[in-house]
Amino acid sequence: MERTFLAIKPDGVQRGLVGNIISRLESKGFTLVGLKLMNVSRELAEQHYAVHKERPFFSGLIEFITSGPVVAMVWEGDGVVASARKIIGATNPLNAEPGTIRGDFGVDVGRNLIHGSDAIETAQNEINLWFKEEELASWEPSLMSWIR
Ligand code: ADP
Ligand code: MG
Repeated sequence: MERTFLAIKPDGVQRGLVGNIISRLESKGFTLVGLKLMNVSRELAEQHYAVHKERPFFSGLIEFITSGPVVAMVWEGDGVVASARKIIGATNPLNAEPGTIRGDFGVDVGRNLIHGSDAIETAQNEINLWFKEEELASWEPSLMSWIR
């Protein structure tokens, strides 16, 4: 089953948007299989954003992502990688459509609330970087067993 890695950045946590963001992915129909609130080490941040190493915003990005706790998540479902990117919206919140997370809550490209993997292969690498195998749960709803 397809999986993606999402991380609510320090601005999303500090603004109290964790529940709202998780709710959007849950109600869309995706399955949460990994979840942890954590401080991000400089080493992890630099590995995660290695592709942007030469960009002028890199050091500011690392400072920001290590500045407070983030909510790291793995979500599962058909087409979840591309769909989560749509739910998140464009990188610059000013260009993100209303109805997307960044479009609804952001104005600053350096404070765009949430990360989402950009491709299936990237997602696999990011999941392996952020989570241990035993931190992920594979499950399916079994409604009958709890309403009986
Ligand atoms: P996305 O998060 O949408 O995949 P990118 O991979 O292009 O976007 O960039 C990674 C992150 O770097 C962005 O989410 C944002 O936090 C930051 N970033 C990108 N471009 C800029 C910029 N021009 N100025 C400041 N920060 C930026
Ligand atoms: Mg990216």
